[in-house]
Amino acid sequence: MRRAQNRESRPRIAIVGANFAGLAAARTFGRDYAVTLIDSSPWFEWLPNVHELLSGTRRPADLRLPRARLVARAGHRFVRATVTAIDAPAGRLVTATGRQFEFDACILAVGGVNDTFGVRGADRYALPFGSVDACVLIGRRLAALARRPGRRSVVIVGGGLEGIEALGEILRKYRQVDDLSVDVVEAGPRLLAGTPPRLDAAVRAHCEGRNVRFFTGSPVTAVTPHRVRLRSGESLRSDLTLWTAGATAPPLLLDSGLVDAPRQWAPVTRALRSRKFDNVFVIGDAAALPRPLAKQAFFALQMGACAADNVRRSLAGRALRNFRPSPKPMLIAFGDLDTFFVSGRSVIASPRLAALKEAVFQVTMAELDPPLNAPAAQALTGRLSRAARRLVLPGW
Ligand SMILES: Cc1cc2nc3c(=O)[nH]c(=O)nc-3n(C[C@H](O)[C@H](O)[C@H](O)COP(=O)(O)OP(=O)(O)OC[C@H]3O[C@@H](n4cnc5c(N)ncnc54)[C@H](O)[C@@H]3O)c2cc1C
Repeated sequence: MRRAQNRESRPRIAIVGANFAGLAAARTFGRDYAVTLIDSSPWFEWLPNVHELLSGTRRPADLRLPRARLVARAGHRFVRATVTAIDAPAGRLVTATGRQFEFDACILAVGGVNDTFGVRGADRYALPFGSVDACVLIGRRLAALARRPGRRSVVIVGGGLEGIEALGEILRKYRQVDDLSVDVVEAGPRLLAGTPPRLDAAVRAHCEGRNVRFFTGSPVTAVTPHRVRLRSGESLRSDLTLWTAGATAPPLLLDSGLVDAPRQWAPVTRALRSRKFDNVFVIGDAAALPRPLAKQAFFALQMGACAADNVRRSLAGRALRNFRPSPKPMLIAFGDLDTFFVSGRSVIASPRLAALKEAVFQVTMAELDPPLNAPAAQALTGRLSRAARRLVLPGW
C-alpha cells in the first residue's frame, strides 16, 4: 500500500462508521497513526437492547455514548459527517457537505440499512426498528395506542430476533391492556430462523391465551395506513405496523465501487481486505466474508481489531492475518417472560438469564466508556452486582 505525501507524517487512517466495528478498530491504533473516525451521528448506540425502549425499561441515554468523547479518549479525531463516496484509487473520501479527507488506508464499518424489499407502502406506513430514535418513536406510538379506547392492533413484520424481542417488550408493558392485539408476520416457515426450532415453540407457548397471533410462511405484499396484506390473501388490521424484516447494504458501497450491484454487501478476503481495492478494509455487518457470518455485534468487534492489525501490517509491508471468528452464545430476550441462552444447538431458557444479558451490556458499555470518577464506578459496581444476584439468587 503506497503512502500519500502531505504535511501529516504519520500514516492516515480513515474509519467510516463509528459503532461496534469502527470503534473497535480505532481503539487498537496508537498515536503513531493519524486516525479519523467519521460517522453521521454523534452517538454510539448499543443496538442489541434497543427493543427495551418500546416498554420504557431502558431510556435512550442508557443506550448511547457520545462518540466525540470515546474517540478523543482513544487519542483520535471524530468528525460528524455523512460520507457520500470513497475514491479508493485516489485515497480520498468525500462527505455530503463536500469536505474531503485523504487516507493511506480506509476501514469501512457502515453497517446496513432497513430493507423493505420493495413491498408497496412499507417505507411509508411501517415504522423501521434498528436505531434508538426509531424505537423511541415506536414506544411513543404504542403508549398513545394503549391509551385509546376500543379494539387496537399492532402488526410486527418479521419474526426474527428483532421482531420477537419487540413482541416480548410489548407483552411486558401491555399484556394487561384489554383489546390490544399483536400479529407477527414472518415470511419464512418459523420464528427465530437460524436458532434451534424449540425456540419457536417456546415463544408460541408464552403467547397462548394472550392476544397474539403468528403468521409464518406469509410474506407481506402491501402495507396501507390500517392494513397489512399477505400473499396468502389475508388482510390484517393494523393501527401500528413495525418493520423488523431485515437489512440490506448501504448505497455507499455501490457508489464507491466496492460492489457491482445495488444491495450487495462488500466482498472481502479472509483478511477483511476489499476484493476491489487494496487500501480499503470492510468490517462488521457491511462485509461479505468468503464464508458467510451472522451479522452480530460481537463479530463486528472482533473484525474491528483484526482489520486494524491488518492495516498496520499492510502499511508496513508485512503479510496479512486471516480473520478467525470466535462465536459467542446468543442471549435472546422475550420481555420479562423469558430469556434464551443459545449456544450452537443447546438452549437454556429462564427469565433469570435476563440478568446475564444485563451484565454483558453493562460490562461492554463500561469497557467502551470506563467510569472516570468514584461515584460513576460505584454506580456501575452496584448495577453489576444487582444483575449477578438476580442471576444466582432464587426469588429475585
Ligand atoms: C434491534 C437489533 C438487535 C440486535 N441484537 C443483537 C444481539 O443481541 N447480539 C448481537 O451480537 N448483535 C445484535 N444485533 C446486531 C448488531 O447490532 C450488529 O451486528 C452491529 O451493530 C454491527 O456493527 P457495525 O459496526 O458493523 O454496524 P452498525 O452498528 O450498524 O454501525 C454502522 C455505523 O456507520 C454509520 N454510517 C453508516 N453509513 C455512514 C456514512 N455514509 N457516513 C458516515 N457514517 C455512516 C452509522 O451511523 C453507524 O453508526 C442487533 C441489531 C439490531 C438492529
